[in-house]
Amino acid sequence: MRLKIAVLAGDGIGPEVTQQATNILRAVAELGGHDFTFVPGLIGGIAITETGSPLPTATLDAALECDAVLLGAVGDNKFNALPPDKRPEAGLLQIRQALGGFANLRPSIAYAALAESSPLRPEVIKDADILFVRELLGGLYFGAPRWWNKEPAVGEQEEAINTMRYTKAEVVRVARIAFELAGKRRGKVTSVDKANVLEVSQLWRATVSEVAKDYPNVTLEHQLVDSMAMHIMNIPRNFDVVLTENLFGDILSDEAGVITGSLGMLPSATIGGAVNLYEPVHGSAPDIAGTGKANPLGAILTAAMVLRHSANLEQDAKAVEQAVHKVLNAGYRTADIARGQQPGQTPVSTQEMGKLVHQALAESIDRRQAMHAV
Ligand code: NAD
Repeated sequence: MRLKIAVLAGDGIGPEVTQQATNILRAVAELGGHDFTFVPGLIGGIAITETGSPLPTATLDAALECDAVLLGAVGDNKFNALPPDKRPEAGLLQIRQALGGFANLRPSIAYAALAESSPLRPEVIKDADILFVRELLGGLYFGAPRWWNKEPAVGEQEEAINTMRYTKAEVVRVARIAFELAGKRRGKVTSVDKANVLEVSQLWRATVSEVAKDYPNVTLEHQLVDSMAMHIMNIPRNFDVVLTENLFGDILSDEAGVITGSLGMLPSATIGGAVNLYEPVHGSAPDIAGTGKANPLGAILTAAMVLRHSANLEQDAKAVEQAVHKVLNAGYRTADIARGQQPGQTPVSTQEMGKLVHQALAESIDRRQAMHAV
């Protein structure tokens, strides 16, 4: 398997966690005899410092020639005074738009070993394993008309408008991704809308129901977004793939993040465009950058998503995820997931955590290869 990956480490803890993620990808390539090439590029604050632009043309050109883009995080307080379109975060928005991915995938998993890290009760989150598929290029964030009349005529009020709009084709393409993924998981799609009030949700619901007919092995259920917000907190284990439009997905996937317990544990992928984009959910965390406190597991789990969605190496993706489980079960903790001085827990740095996952992964791939050799 050949794979060319653009590595845009970015700012703050971005380079620290991305290093651990690429180490894992290198290990998978070595152990499995794959040919992975890594193409480094600048984005964010570091790119502004070195080139004057948060997304230099060279970075974008290189990214568009790769099979996948692995991004760390962007953001640096020293650029806070710049206008929004000149700040590091503008680089992220630009690359997301240029790569054109329309389906944002965000897993929310309850790790048994971290049950105490979630603000939800352990018995509530037990066995939760949700994959959000959020439509990313349509809906309220992009629909026209959009405006804010800041200078109303005499006797009128200031007024602002955003438009939630979807075409049928936009719903079909993201729904297909949700059903395909559910077919490889536990076979259930929960589609979220507000069809009791919004026409756009009625189109969404009718279209998703139509697409479902092509996937007889996948069960479809519809949920209204308000009750869904409650169900996620009450019975998260009931959900497998959750399909949502842009705004609802933005809110619900953040809400579901609490199941896992730390921002540092959450991976994401954006697929369906010219090149898939992979990034941990967290930002550049300037408060802990350079201290060795960053949790690299979100980035490492993001690397697993690269293997699954861009390399079709499902077994290896699972092996990375199982290695993460193993290290957590053995009690190793970065500061964000440690619970005081609990017995059986060993505090580790970013690098140590990366090495432990690497070790657990190498053992599992060795075992697999030995079984095949017998
Ligand atoms: P943040 O995600 O960087 O940090 C929020 C809190 O979570 C901080 O206390 C941080 O220390 C902690 N945290 C985050 N990731 C962690 C990890 N891997 N391990 C341990 N702890 C972790 O969000 P913020 O503080 O709101 O933003 C900081 C900068 O990052 C800003 O410039 C913001 O614009 C940017 N940002 C970038 C992205 C991105 O690149 N995708 C996302 C969000 C924020």
